[in-house]
Amino acid sequence: AKAQGRNNFQFYAAEMNAHAAERIALTGKLRRALENREFVLHFQPQVDVRTLRIVGAEALIRWHHPQMGLVSPARFIPLAEETGIIVPMGEWVLRNACEQARAWLDGGAAPLRMSVNLSACQFRQEGLAALVARTVQACGLDPALLELELTESMLMEDPNAAIATMHELKAVGVRLSLDDFGTGYSSLNRLKGFPIDALKIDRSFVRDITTDRTDAAITAAVVSLAHSLGLSVIAEGVEEADQFEWLRRQGCDEMQGYHFSPPLPAEEFASLLHTDREE
Ligand code: C2E
Ligand code: CA
Ligand code: CA
Ligand code: CA
Repeated sequence: AKAQGRNNFQFYAAEMNAHAAERIALTGKLRRALENREFVLHFQPQVDVRTLRIVGAEALIRWHHPQMGLVSPARFIPLAEETGIIVPMGEWVLRNACEQARAWLDGGAAPLRMSVNLSACQFRQEGLAALVARTVQACGLDPALLELELTESMLMEDPNAAIATMHELKAVGVRLSLDDFGTGYSSLNRLKGFPIDALKIDRSFVRDITTDRTDAAITAAVVSLAHSLGLSVIAEGVEEADQFEWLRRQGCDEMQGYHFSPPLPAEEFASLLHTDREE
């Protein structure tokens, strides 16, 4: 039994080493990905519930590795966070998203809001507001057309510091939204202290609103509270017509999800914009 236990231990140790080695290898590849231009942005439409027009785009990063193929953000974003690679990567995302927004405007599209995800690490960086101001200016983009998506967990770590950073960002003129709302620990009461413009109701609530009465009750309460605080509400992960209908009846302002469109490469997104305009 003793020998068996030792073998098991050795087995786990070997497996852990393999895991660590894989992480190190992936980190090396990730470090080179930026200079090798392996990242690309996809854009998911955000649709106005009343007009069904595209009013925004969320920029979502994709990593095309020459050997590994498409690597999911769920796999490399956490690693990028732990290693600090997220900082230059995040700057790249911000810059490219703003340049794309500018390019669509130059192509004759109606002004469209561009949403960019910020990581906790980026949010804590000294000089974030200055970086954002420089970027929108360099791209000739109205800062009101840029939205930064923050998560509850990054605000709850040190709420006072977070509120100060948010005010700096608001002074630049950008919009702020709270992503994945409902999955964190912040009380609804906390919301009134945050200078945000919109709430994004997490996919996990949207998934069950038509079948789970608790999720439906929470979502309905969140929509009405957000509105009473003057916030706009966007539901994410809307996959089905009856979810859309339910959310529309609750007065949700915008929606995003496979029911409308998956995230798309820039050219495909642009073709949706043209259809939208010609309607
Ligand atoms: P998120 O910010 O919550 O982004 C929404 C995710 O839901 C995206 O996954 C999107 O493709 C997916 N999605 C959209 N509609 C639907 C739907 O109807 N059903 C389902 N099941 N999924 C839907 P993606 O692109 O794989 O990104 C995963 C996460 O990675 C993002 O979650 C975000 O936290 C992070 N991420 C992606 N791009 C960036 C980035 O540029 N910077 C940072 N910091 N994080 C990013
Ligand atoms: Ca997001
Ligand atoms: Ca989200
Ligand atoms: Ca999420």
